[in-house]
Amino acid sequence: MTASLDAMTLPSWASHVDFKAAPMPLLRVQAFVDTLDLDLRRDILADPEEARAWLADAGLRESGPDFRADLRLAREARESIRALIGHDAESEPLTPDQLEPLETVLREAQLRLDVTAEGRVLLAAGAPPVSLADGILGLLLIIRDAQADGSWDRLKLCSNPDCRWAFYDRSHSRQGAWCDMASCGNRLKNRNLRARRRPTGTAEPAEPNERTEPAEPAVTAG
Ligand SMILES: [Zn+2]
Repeated sequence: MTASLDAMTLPSWASHVDFKAAPMPLLRVQAFVDTLDLDLRRDILADPEEARAWLADAGLRESGPDFRADLRLAREARESIRALIGHDAESEPLTPDQLEPLETVLREAQLRLDVTAEGRVLLAAGAPPVSLADGILGLLLIIRDAQADGSWDRLKLCSNPDCRWAFYDRSHSRQGAWCDMASCGNRLKNRNLRARRRPTGTAEPAEPNERTEPAEPAVTAG
């Protein structure tokens, strides 16, 4: 098991991805989707201030006129990207509702074409300071590249409907269906173990028997 090893080398914005982390840059997509942990009922984007800090740390949003609208878009786009990850050749087509948040991103974001001194032609999102739409567009460009090089097929959703955690399947067969073996229990145990070892000052999910309903998203303007 290399989970704790991986966790030590992960960037701060991906510290919650303590299982089956994707390589960079696909880790950015995984970390965004996994800000919602249905299994542990933890949502990094539930609390506006925690969300603001995480989005900035992840380089997804530096500024913007309306944080309340950005936070709503972040939560909606997260589910759209989760649907993209869960979609495969046997799936029903994605619905207009699933795609709509990404269409909002495409309307609002600035797409830039760069020609570098090395002669490379690059697509990039916006220019700093990054708006949330630019940040999400950057994730879509990562997805596009991963679809082109095949690594996208290794990013999957856990088949447990109560989990839906995005994980990177490094198995030779590419047949992994669960974030952790046949149930998510091991991940839960492992994370709680890590939480107990963690220095104070870092909020971590409660023990499973202390689960509470997810906090209402008490959004404040800013
Ligand atoms: Zn799972």
